[in-house]
Amino acid sequence: MRYGGVLDLSTVDFPKRLCAVVFFVGCPFRCPYCQNHRLFSGGIEVKPEIIAREVVENYLIEGVCFTGGEPLMQNLNELVELIGILKDHSLDVKIDTNGYYPDKLERVLDLIDYVAMDFKSIPDRYHEVTGRKDSAERVLKSLKILANSNVDYEIRTTVVPTLTDEHDLLRIAEILSSYGVRRYVLQQFRNEDTFDPKFREINPYPKDFYYRVGKRLKEFIPNVIVRFEGEESI
Ligand code: SF4
Repeated sequence: MRYGGVLDLSTVDFPKRLCAVVFFVGCPFRCPYCQNHRLFSGGIEVKPEIIAREVVENYLIEGVCFTGGEPLMQNLNELVELIGILKDHSLDVKIDTNGYYPDKLERVLDLIDYVAMDFKSIPDRYHEVTGRKDSAERVLKSLKILANSNVDYEIRTTVVPTLTDEHDLLRIAEILSSYGVRRYVLQQFRNEDTFDPKFREINPYPKDFYYRVGKRLKEFIPNVIVRFEGEESI
């Protein structure tokens, strides 16, 4: 597995659990606003048990969040093996994913406890955000799999001026609602250290934008959460 490091303790990366965060290296997307672009390459190649060793003796945590990069870009057998070791140590597992690997997502869903999946744009503009022509089609397939599963999950959009406006968010909420999504998170865009330097010049929407639009989205989705310097359901 291509491993980029671990954060020993987080209170914000796994709902209702103290967790460690494992960073995997590699992502099929090139979102211009990405702040984790240093994980596009590099890292070290390790076996699952080496990563597990980094977290299983951390007695403060109740779970482990896999993030990246894109965790599902890793070898499936090794992912399953790592999840198995963590579960043997009574740790819950969450995966952050961009939804580009529906088949792998389906394979691990029954093994894990929580999924946070990005929905980055309206389908017609998805490729503009990700740099991949087939991204919308694959993400919609993942959405369907997730919505038909028993796993606890959230769908989230980082709201980036020039890429996503209020009209787009309403359309996204309408699509998510048609799949039965019940928890939708609007995430604050941060313009520090973005992959595309031009995005460092873009000012995020003000806080009241998130709350005003969030309230409109509740017409489609019962639980809308704003992550803007903290988290709040609206
Ligand atoms: S923001 Fe985009 S490019 Fe960056 S890790 Fe997530 S999916 Fe990959």
